[in-house]
Amino acid sequence: MNILSVASEVYPLVKTGGLADVVGALPAALSPHGIRTRTLVPGYPAVLQKLKKKKKVGSFANLFGIPASVLAADLDGLDLLVLDLPALYDRDGGPYVDATGRDYVDNFRRFAALSLAAAEIAAGDVVAGWKPDIVHVHDWQTALTPVYMRFGRAASTPTVMTIHNIAFQGQFGPAVFAELALPPEAFSMQFVEYYGDVCFLKGGLQTANAITTVSPSYAQEILTPEFGMGLEGLLKSRLSDLVGIVNGIDADVWNPASDPLIAQHFSPTTLKQRGPNRRALEERFGLEQGNGPIFCVISRLTWQKGMDLLAEVTDEIVAMGGKLIVLGSGDTALEGALLAAASRHRGHVGMVTGYNEPLSHLMQAGSDAILIPSRFEPCGLTQLYGLRYGCVPVVARTGGLADTIIDANEAGLSAKVATGFQFTPVTADGLRLAIRRVFRAYNEPKVWARLQTQGMKSDVSWARSAERYVSLYSGLLGKG
Ligand code: ADP
Repeated sequence: MNILSVASEVYPLVKTGGLADVVGALPAALSPHGIRTRTLVPGYPAVLQKLKKKKKVGSFANLFGIPASVLAADLDGLDLLVLDLPALYDRDGGPYVDATGRDYVDNFRRFAALSLAAAEIAAGDVVAGWKPDIVHVHDWQTALTPVYMRFGRAASTPTVMTIHNIAFQGQFGPAVFAELALPPEAFSMQFVEYYGDVCFLKGGLQTANAITTVSPSYAQEILTPEFGMGLEGLLKSRLSDLVGIVNGIDADVWNPASDPLIAQHFSPTTLKQRGPNRRALEERFGLEQGNGPIFCVISRLTWQKGMDLLAEVTDEIVAMGGKLIVLGSGDTALEGALLAAASRHRGHVGMVTGYNEPLSHLMQAGSDAILIPSRFEPCGLTQLYGLRYGCVPVVARTGGLADTIIDANEAGLSAKVATGFQFTPVTADGLRLAIRRVFRAYNEPKVWARLQTQGMKSDVSWARSAERYVSLYSGLLGKG
């Protein structure tokens, strides 16, 4: 089975969040099932520079008035197609924002072009001798693909649309529609029109044959006004085509027994060897040495991630004898509040701003617990990395966090299945209570070690979820 996966980021070439990890890891998990995935991504500078051997396999004379090429490359088994279109993708800054953090004004065109290219490739006319059986698109940036396919020559090829975060919808003013090269009827309720605007995600959700999201709980939550962000009605009308499949992790990249980015390797039977990782963190974050738990946070600094709640509980963590280290960037006010806490509690709270993949590995390897107080969380990956590294997750009971962590309540502890702490309501007080529970468990070394080993043994690989994608794909091809 041949899949064309279309995404705006892919690990290890370009990553701003969990989307890249998933797009980068799923193909390898599907391959033992006889599924061959080719992943189409934009030719950002980072992508073109990192791919050494590229071969031109196709071209467009005119993609929104601009010529473009399709390059093929292999990256450690990841079969990539790159849309080389410098006028849209050769930019300083990130994949979505310029160097000053502002959205590129032509993002609608940049990602409509990616979607249109995908639809043409799906029709089999661009890459000679290759045509996918199914097209799988991710998030709003690629959501117009099934819409272009519906009105183009690949209308009969089945499509899957995965929602990694429904908060990002790709909504633009109505004037944009004229530039999308879609027929007038596409500007309607059944397609991309959304309260008079153009909404890319809506178009994809209306037209894809199947819709997935990244955890079963989030699949339920997005049917409600609180989490559906306006699209709950549409999703309810597509209930029979909606499924939640929890993300796995790349168990080779995230393996404490072989991770080259940490100070000392360890396994569930050698937890004491986490020590050098802890010491490396104390040094990196300027922490005083001590016995209390080190809490870490690796996150975008946003309201969604509950980072305002975190800022409210720093004093409590320090008062109880704990340490807090934060790696993140995002909202400047939240960044400021956390930096203020770090200077208030020098030696006890440390912060590194920015994006730092190697440091994120060391933090999982050397901290005792990872705090994830998200107000909503489609799946979340950092709690899965925490499980694998013996860094006990403390999570808000929502979305994928609720689905992947077993709470250390009496029942969970006595059945020896608990892997972390869940809390609700997602408020500063809710988080405070959870932190107190963490301290109690941490002070009972046997309980704590069991939580760590239980987490490290839990299956966070892609194996089970890959099977769910396989049966979804097979069903769409009538082979289910
Ligand atoms: P989201 O995609 O909503 O940001 P996820 O938990 O699904 O959240 O994925 C976040 C990914 O990005 C994880 O791989 C996490 O380790 C990584 N990450 C987040 N912030 C940083 C950072 N500042 N530095 C390094 N990695 C980060």
